[in-house]
Amino acid sequence: MERTFGIIKPDAVEAKYSGRIISRIEEEGFNIVAMKKVHIAKDKAEEFYAVHKERPFYDELTTFLSSGPIIVMVLEKADAIKGWRNLMGATNPAEAEENTLRKLYARSLGENAVHGSDAPETAKQEIAFFFPELS
Ligand code: UDP
Ligand code: MG
Repeated sequence: MERTFGIIKPDAVEAKYSGRIISRIEEEGFNIVAMKKVHIAKDKAEEFYAVHKERPFYDELTTFLSSGPIIVMVLEKADAIKGWRNLMGATNPAEAEENTLRKLYARSLGENAVHGSDAPETAKQEIAFFFPELS
């Protein structure tokens, strides 16, 4: 079993897609280890996405992530990191495969419904960032 970290981003929470996304997560066989709805401040979003600090979209991205409530989750399954990335689909919804969450629910490249850790090290860091009690 492997753990990964996911976010239902402000666009999808606002559009009331959270229930559908959570249902899909369960249908795909993930165990939801932890989950909470939070509204983070801009500085916390900046810390979370610090890896993108030099990118031109950093300000827009962190403003967006702090613009409304999000649902943060720890998901568990065999090969969970890759499995969750596959279920999410490509970063740009225009390039996402049919039936992926981003194809179904994302608005745009920036407002793309969900986040997922990209590797074991980042999964560990991101879980600890929102769920220190689990690490
Ligand atoms: N993003 C953006 N413009 C870009 C690339 C990314 O606004 O050109 C946003 C988008 O919300 C994405 C996030 O920045 O989900 C993090 O980018 P990353 O490349 O890590 O994509 P992800 O891992 O989320 O698929
Ligand atoms: Mg990423």
